[in-house]
Amino acid sequence: MRLSILTLTIGSLLSCGTTALAQATETAAAAPDPVRTLVGRLELEKYKATIKGLTQFGDRRQGTDRNRAAVDWIEAQLKSYGCPTERIKYVYDPPPAAGAGRGRGNTGLAVGGGRPRGDRIPTGVNTDPMKQPDETLRALNMQPTTPGPREMVFCTKVGSTHPEEMYIVSGHMDGHGWGEAANDDGSGTALVMELARIFSAPDVTTERTIRFALWNNEETGSQAARAYIGQRQALQGKEDPPGSGKYPEPKWLGMIQHDMMMFDHGMPLPDGTMRKEQRAEADVNIEFQSNSKMAAESQKLAWMLEAANEKYATDYPAAVGPHMTNTDSGPFMDIIPAISLRENERGVQIGNGWDPQWHQPTDVYATYTDKDFRLGLNAAQTTLGAVAGLTGATLGK
Ligand SMILES: [Zn+2]
Repeated sequence: MRLSILTLTIGSLLSCGTTALAQATETAAAAPDPVRTLVGRLELEKYKATIKGLTQFGDRRQGTDRNRAAVDWIEAQLKSYGCPTERIKYVYDPPPAAGAGRGRGNTGLAVGGGRPRGDRIPTGVNTDPMKQPDETLRALNMQPTTPGPREMVFCTKVGSTHPEEMYIVSGHMDGHGWGEAANDDGSGTALVMELARIFSAPDVTTERTIRFALWNNEETGSQAARAYIGQRQALQGKEDPPGSGKYPEPKWLGMIQHDMMMFDHGMPLPDGTMRKEQRAEADVNIEFQSNSKMAAESQKLAWMLEAANEKYATDYPAAVGPHMTNTDSGPFMDIIPAISLRENERGVQIGNGWDPQWHQPTDVYATYTDKDFRLGLNAAQTTLGAVAGLTGATLGK
């Protein structure tokens, strides 16, 4: 018995050895995939730590000291990664509150054009400080917003052979609702910051430019994104100063927005409660807007992200849908290919109560488990993989 096993083992080793040699030869011929190496540099603990860092500024509501402190902190992090920063300045004077009768109308469709189905629970923005049971957090969020000057920060990885062309990778750093805006949109902000960190490593080269943008004032109607477009659209692709090889505003090739990345516990249950855990079927929702001027190009970009998810994301798949809405990619969608990545579809799912923390005091770091954080990490793997491919990322020695 023992002898026969030994014989079998030697036989197996010999045949395995031949296969291994063939595989080694094959591997040597095909260069290792630098994109896979870059995606492998994303870590759950680092992603969580960046979200945690953002939550020290409470809900980061626009027009407050805590929002301005968060912009400063984000900028300091981006600089420490070796990603040079700039700011967009603009003024936000909110219009008078919309009167009754405004809203989404009676078309029967959700914002973005999707059709709601199934069990729903009401949504809204919490404005009552007393709904925040944590007194320290309540005090942190107490300063009211005031009209006036605003700022947002971005940083840039300049392309080696095509510095004049770029992709914009973004999230929004402001929030509201008397929580910590951990998911909306600490999760998207941290994702963008993690990608900035990885692409800015000294051994990474990209042929094209990548801009990592953390919009402000998303919750009031994407005023930072609109200011960016207003101030910079006409500067695209212009070398300045002439002959310098510098392009302050490279031509926009596409815009990829990240807004609420972590919570996919499924449809509300018939009794109005939610499943306690991330559903096993959780996915990253990649949306374009079929009712936009760049719909065809945006859809193409969406499927590129989906393909990158299939190749590089470790745990959760991606789904593509046509109803992108209510985030900073909106102002770009008639100009360039623009998509959003989210935990769920914004219109028919988030808009119908699939995320009970949305704009609520419960959107705090402690609400989420590693299964939730991991969905955000998978979205990061998806975008990193896609953008690395689109910009021709390579690794030096
Ligand atoms: Zn958001």
